[in-house]
Amino acid sequence: MKPLQAKENKHHIQAERLHQRIMALAAIGRIGTTGVCRLALSPEDRAGVELVKGWMEEAGMTARIDPFGNLIGVYKGRDKQAPVLMLGSHIDSQPYGGRFDGVIGVLGAIEAVQTMAERGIMSEMDIEVVAFCDEEGCRFNKGLFGARGMTGKLEEGELARADKNGVTRREALLQFGCDPAEYDSYSFEAGRIRAFLELHIEQGPVLEAKNEPIGIVSGISGPVWWTVEMTGFAGHAGSVPMAMRQDAMVGCAKVIVALDELARREPAAPTVGTVGSVAVFPDSRNIIPEKVSFTVDFRDIELERRNKLEQELRGIIEQVSLEHGLAYTIREDTNSEPRYCADWLKTILHREAAGMGLAPPELMSGPFHDSLTMSYVCDYSMIFVRCEEGISHNPREYAAPEDIALGAELLYRAAVQIARGRSEAG
Ligand SMILES: [Zn+2]
Repeated sequence: MKPLQAKENKHHIQAERLHQRIMALAAIGRIGTTGVCRLALSPEDRAGVELVKGWMEEAGMTARIDPFGNLIGVYKGRDKQAPVLMLGSHIDSQPYGGRFDGVIGVLGAIEAVQTMAERGIMSEMDIEVVAFCDEEGCRFNKGLFGARGMTGKLEEGELARADKNGVTRREALLQFGCDPAEYDSYSFEAGRIRAFLELHIEQGPVLEAKNEPIGIVSGISGPVWWTVEMTGFAGHAGSVPMAMRQDAMVGCAKVIVALDELARREPAAPTVGTVGSVAVFPDSRNIIPEKVSFTVDFRDIELERRNKLEQELRGIIEQVSLEHGLAYTIREDTNSEPRYCADWLKTILHREAAGMGLAPPELMSGPFHDSLTMSYVCDYSMIFVRCEEGISHNPREYAAPEDIALGAELLYRAAVQIARGRSEAG
């Protein structure tokens, strides 16, 4: 990794310190040379939390772990009653993950606060830096646990969910040092958070294609998830004439192509559509497929457009089924609405970026983040950092230290504006 150049001196933050911390955290749960496995609530996750807690304290914060496993550092402001400014992301990883996902948002936030402390900048309100517990959701098959816990959005039965070794979330929390018994007496105080800012790698190829180091997120697109089942009639692949077939696979194939075409219709729009999983019955080379079940993932930042395309796709499934003599069902598994970043926060980000000589583009987030949960309780905004080839959830995930430094610097400058109470006024 090449050392940071002198041009970084124009930053207020200490890019080298941030880079060293990212690399030090990457050593915990390291797999191979650049991979990371820090599953939520694992011993590696706990070791990571301890390391990060020490950095929070070094930055001038008091730090604690809440009953949901969130690590929270507090930088005291002048007015204890004022709604807080919250910064952060997560440090848990996928089983075969990278060094930057989530991590830059937590360590970048600590760097921002430490820089404020070192430059003697007082904040009007408390600033809280949070490393949210279990954003990834891979261990217990349900993510954003810490953010949902903190904001009072846990669902029935969550603590009984077990990982693949049979360890329940409750047991894992207890081993981690958190007591779920405290949940009963916990309630989220609405309005206690003024704004949430999250720095994150893009996890997609858009910034790289635009040759931009950082971007400002316009919103998180909500996915609609379906499971579609098409049922025809099995028969011998050698004897049933084409005109007499009820081939569920052909129906599925036509729907996949139609979805792809719908998502591409407006080339400038960020609409994406994917069929990522297909199950065929009876799955034999010489039997006409009788039943095909497949997933649909449809995302867009404009709900109206997504709804319209969704209706069209329903029409196509109906038409294809008629044409091929198939019965079908559509089960809606998830239907989330897009969540838009607050205009006043985007305005601050654009203005501060301009002060750094940058004009970051706005882009949609396809993946969700801790910000998605926070969007239901406060205004939020996100800064994206370019990542190589858009690769993430993979040991090959890479973001250049220079780009991360720019993102963290922008986070710092925006946080200072909010901390000084210069928010909406501009
Ligand atoms: Zn992440």
